[in-house]
Amino acid sequence: MPAFSCHVVIIGGGISGLSTAFFVMEEAAKNELDVQCTVIERDARWGGKILTNITEDLLIEGGPDSFLTSKPWAMELCRTLGLEDQLIPTNAENNQTFSLCRGVLRELPQGLLAFRPQRVDTLVSSGLMSWRGLLRMGAERFWPKSAFGTTDESLANFFRRRFGSEAFDYLIEPLVAGIYAGDADELSLEATFPRFRELEQQYGSVIKGMRVAQAKAGAAPKAPGLSTSLFMTLRNGLGELIQALVNRLTDSGVQLMTGSDCRDVQASTRNNGRFSVTLENGTILTADAVVLATPAYRTAQIIRMFQPEVANLLEHIPYTSTATVSMAYPSEAVAGHIRGFGFVVPRKEQRSLLAGTWTSLKWPNRSKKGEALIRCYVGGRGREQILEYTDAELVESIRQELQGIVGITSCPNYTEVHRWVRGMPQYVMGHQARIAKIKDLLVPWPTFHVSGAGLYGIGIPDCIREGHRVADSLIQSFLQSP
Ligand SMILES: Cc1cc2nc3c(=O)[nH]c(=O)nc-3n(C[C@H](O)[C@H](O)[C@H](O)COP(=O)(O)OP(=O)(O)OC[C@H]3O[C@@H](n4cnc5c(N)ncnc54)[C@H](O)[C@@H]3O)c2cc1C
Repeated sequence: MPAFSCHVVIIGGGISGLSTAFFVMEEAAKNELDVQCTVIERDARWGGKILTNITEDLLIEGGPDSFLTSKPWAMELCRTLGLEDQLIPTNAENNQTFSLCRGVLRELPQGLLAFRPQRVDTLVSSGLMSWRGLLRMGAERFWPKSAFGTTDESLANFFRRRFGSEAFDYLIEPLVAGIYAGDADELSLEATFPRFRELEQQYGSVIKGMRVAQAKAGAAPKAPGLSTSLFMTLRNGLGELIQALVNRLTDSGVQLMTGSDCRDVQASTRNNGRFSVTLENGTILTADAVVLATPAYRTAQIIRMFQPEVANLLEHIPYTSTATVSMAYPSEAVAGHIRGFGFVVPRKEQRSLLAGTWTSLKWPNRSKKGEALIRCYVGGRGREQILEYTDAELVESIRQELQGIVGITSCPNYTEVHRWVRGMPQYVMGHQARIAKIKDLLVPWPTFHVSGAGLYGIGIPDCIREGHRVADSLIQSFLQSP
């Protein structure tokens, strides 16, 4: 074990960077290692894409509004941080989601949003798909396995091939767009939903494989307190997770620097195995380990001199831009027009909306009694032009969309627009091969990591899992160093 104190510098104060710092300190304490940690964030606030704004009447999430419970890492972190009592599930009584189909909202099977459909009979009753489309979808059980083997395939190709075009257009595509804001013809199956290919390969059919998985899950004993809600959030919004992390890091002596733009990381010329981290203001930090938890294109700029090949690979990870538009109405203005959690919009419908969430129906205490909060999601791959609108134009265009889709004619009495320019990484075909190359190139640098949502998973739980993996790997390197 090294006698000196190790200094870890983490660049990027979103959930990836903050959770990495948290796990570094946890693992260091467990291993009785003397580790100093610094987190550098360009913005004046912590959290990156996680942004909760609480007004007198409303709780508005500008970025993510929840996390998946089937990936346990976010739930676990909340529990470790003492936030268990703050975890809230979606409102069970409104548990319906709709897809826009030829201008009409039709119900999706429950669980489909997490790709775990529970009641497919809804598909028959909702009229979302034609009989022909349903038969083609059901025939998936008998459809031959792919000849793609282990080569990558686009999400669109996989789902069209297995379930038919109609199921793809109205069930799968809008969900993919809701998660990745992406174009399913470009996105890699291997990098986004590798499980589906595994099911196909193992059981010859996705439906058969899911049935087996569901039967196993049904038979397994449930852990006490485990939620059946597919998504969870925190009573005071996801910003509470960020605040809890920042408090914990402060208590454990981590140096937290906001308003600090990192310009460059180099291998230090004077100290072998150490790094120099240069900030825009000229400050230079020396580190034994560096973690870049910034967007991939930003990381590419920062490490261009030090790791030009890795920078080139990172630069080729595309990003798309989106915006969320939150709108508050008096409850009576929307009564009778909204039900369930909201709706998704298939690309085929050629609308500017990607999705609409009836926030006050989906979650408790997001708006004061008598007010209804709605959040719409726009932009995404091939539809980024809408971000050129002014806020007022954006709100007006969405207002008209909502009028056409659900008949809300009133104007909202409060609106809030959050733009995420190049905010959503796109795991396009070949993503996994690119990541494997990056890992190979960094093998000689065990205390240098590039992470963040651009590489190993865009969901909050994935970012946290990766933060933990990076922290474990750093601590192991420190323990093994002479
Ligand atoms: C609108 C929207 C809705 C979403 N909804 C969900 C959802 O419901 N559930 C879910 O699980 N996921 C959701 N996601 C995805 C998820 O929020 C993100 O993938 C995740 O928060 C990214 O975390 P990160 O720390 O990797 O990156 P970021 O949050 O982007 O953090 C990177 C940080 O690096 C900082 N930085 C950049 N350059 C520098 C520099 N040079 N020096 C110092 N700091 C720098 C940035 O300011 C930023 O704070 C959503 C994303 C968006 C945009």
